[in-house]
Amino acid sequence: MTESPQPLLHGDLPCPSCGYLRAGLPLERACPECGAAGFEGLVIASGTSLPPATPVVKPLTYLALGLLGCLAALIAVSFLVAPEAGRQIRTLLIPCSVPLVVGGAIVLGVMWWTVLRHRPGSERSAEREVWEVWPTGVRMRSPQGTEWIARERMYDVTVHTRFELGATVVSITEPGALDLTGHRLHLREPIAARRKCAARIREVLGFA
Ligand SMILES: [Zn+2]
Repeated sequence: MTESPQPLLHGDLPCPSCGYLRAGLPLERACPECGAAGFEGLVIASGTSLPPATPVVKPLTYLALGLLGCLAALIAVSFLVAPEAGRQIRTLLIPCSVPLVVGGAIVLGVMWWTVLRHRPGSERSAEREVWEVWPTGVRMRSPQGTEWIARERMYDVTVHTRFELGATVVSITEPGALDLTGHRLHLREPIAARRKCAARIREVLGFA
């Protein structure tokens, strides 16, 4: 007689296929939106396979807006000073400001696009990923499909908390793998929940 352990659910659980947030649904139930299979495993952890970009983007946006404001203020001031000096300021500033504004807009656009893509559970979160953890391996489900990594293929499971990303990264490395990419899950919950979840993943796989 063995008690079946309760699955540990980590965070808002998005459907790995369509992103529907399955709040309140039993784990084993199929997705009501797209019919994707429910979840199995001793630990169910959801996150993103790519790092979230949010914490860096906001300060950079304010910095860019601040610089634009200074530029606009300088151009405005050039109309208040003596006409000759004003003309000199404008001939200096206006040619610089065009590439600055265009370049800044492109950089910020790319960064915001990355943020939207990585918001866990959002429809655009192309990198959302859910791990179903068993003692025998991990089933990784994402919009790209399902991958099973057997326990024998795992060299180590490491956990790093990246404060600048506001995420805890669980990495599975395989023996002889030369690349540093591996299989990664970025957990985004409050730090105590992330640590507990990461510890459970290592424990279930026998690395604790
Ligand atoms: Zn779905």
